[in-house]
Amino acid sequence: MSANEGTRAYDAVIVGGGHNGLVAAAYLARAGWSVLVLERLDHTGGAAVSTRPFAGVDARLSRYSYLVSLLPRKIVRDLGLDFRVRSRTISSYTPVERSGRPTGLLVGGGEQRTRAAFARLTGGDREYTAWQRFYGRTAQVAQRVFPTLTEPLPTRDELRRRIDDESAWRALFEEPLGVCVEETFADDLVRGVVLTDGLIGTFADAHDPSLDQNRCFLYHVIGGGTGAWDVPVGGMGALTDALAGAARAAGAVIATGHEAVRIDTGRDTAEVAYRTRDGEGAAAARYVLVNASPRELAALTGDPAPEPAEGAQLKVNMLLERLPRLRDPDADPREAFAGTFHIAEGYRQLATAHAQAAAGELPTAPPSEIYCHSLTDPTILGPELAGRGYQTLTLFGLHTPARLFDRDNDAVRDELLKSTLAQLDAHLAEPLADCLATDADGRPCIEAKTPLDLERDLRLPGGNIFHRALSWPYAGPGDGRWGVETRHDRVLLCGAGAVRGGGVSGVPGHNAAMAVLERG
Ligand SMILES: Cc1cc2nc3c(=O)[nH]c(=O)nc-3n(C[C@H](O)[C@H](O)[C@H](O)COP(=O)(O)OP(=O)(O)OC[C@H]3O[C@@H](n4cnc5c(N)ncnc54)[C@H](O)[C@@H]3O)c2cc1C
Repeated sequence: MSANEGTRAYDAVIVGGGHNGLVAAAYLARAGWSVLVLERLDHTGGAAVSTRPFAGVDARLSRYSYLVSLLPRKIVRDLGLDFRVRSRTISSYTPVERSGRPTGLLVGGGEQRTRAAFARLTGGDREYTAWQRFYGRTAQVAQRVFPTLTEPLPTRDELRRRIDDESAWRALFEEPLGVCVEETFADDLVRGVVLTDGLIGTFADAHDPSLDQNRCFLYHVIGGGTGAWDVPVGGMGALTDALAGAARAAGAVIATGHEAVRIDTGRDTAEVAYRTRDGEGAAAARYVLVNASPRELAALTGDPAPEPAEGAQLKVNMLLERLPRLRDPDADPREAFAGTFHIAEGYRQLATAHAQAAAGELPTAPPSEIYCHSLTDPTILGPELAGRGYQTLTLFGLHTPARLFDRDNDAVRDELLKSTLAQLDAHLAEPLADCLATDADGRPCIEAKTPLDLERDLRLPGGNIFHRALSWPYAGPGDGRWGVETRHDRVLLCGAGAVRGGGVSGVPGHNAAMAVLERG
């Protein structure tokens, strides 16, 4: 497709070729609709992509998002995607120093091992029993909530009746998460491990009255009806490629290098003006589905901007020649790094880091979590690297809101990266720097992205990985039937900013497609 070729008409024009835009495109094209996807970058996928970030190095890293939980099997089946996930044998490992000695908590590898790991750390059975009861209840909530994500929005009362557990409802939907965490668990490290699921990409305290941490927690424990976080085989780009393939095979036109610059909308049709390297053009549609953020949507339609939505994470991608040895003599790096490796995420440490960042300072002990993709799925490494035992490492840092980088993004990124890696090094028997591979130019294979980098590269508002704070999975005022409706009849959201959006789920893409198919 080229610019300056007159205004063509489609049943649907989709603004953004992120994974959700592609899900919507594939559903609509399979239903026989003519579909055009406009993506400003020269590739599809948005925050769900694989890239080779290091010069001359054949390692295809999931550059931004890296684990899959919220993608319903139904979407994979409906669209006939050739896409698989693999479960992790270890759920998490958290190193800590107790009584001057390095130790840690390994969750996974079977019930007996996990029980023994809790006993080793806490000296008894109490915390493990509490853990099992707590996650048994979240699993029940998951089984009831997850299937509703791809149905029309339930009301709050309908969802509450469906969950049918008043104390779980209160703990997850009404009281700040910190209340339940403190009532249920006594050990600071165990409390911290539980709380982190409420803080991914979400700048909140355990007792934040906004309950942002509760919504984030909910989305982290309901995926697939179990809350398991799985490894996408081939990396996150494998999902995007499968989706783009499905959309194209069904007849959708995907135009990369096409940036939407304006949406004009009336009662019966809408028109999207776009810009390419060669010029400008326009496409008319019965419906426009916006995969870009709510902020971008407002800019395109000329509506007032929504409330600012700030991201708060640091993302670091690395390639190692070998996994580092650990100070904890009972921990095997091949297990510890296979799950989520928590650093400086004790409950009190998280509270301190949040308070420091809220006061405008970088946390002195930045919390983060780390995971090695290639231990579970080595296919992302070229044969030579895999043969030499190289491993990838992904680090996701918490509690560093975009505003902290305003003064000098490059300098603050460097400072934060240094202090984050120092927290990791404190638990290693050899410095991480000694294990880093080097690229074709002799530079260490490590890259870091701040919220401002993500805003620049992906147009995530304030670097927010979910486009805005996550929403409750029930209807709020003005949310419409599917949670994708906007104030314009012909314009819908089909991205993370919709109700029940956020994360690699395809859910808002599916729901926007269902909403317009219903209307016809
Ligand atoms: C560092 C990081 C780590 C994450 N980790 C995970 C994880 O492990 N698991 C998980 O489930 N989620 C994770 N997430 C969140 C998840 O990746 C996102 O919520 C999800 O990818 C959003 O998908 P989307 O398709 O709705 O939007 P996006 O991926 O943001 O795609 C939107 C697309 O719209 C395009 N666009 C924007 N404006 C225009 C315009 N004017 N014209 C044309 N195109 C436009 C953009 O270029 C982009 O391609 C992570 C996100 C980040 C950034």
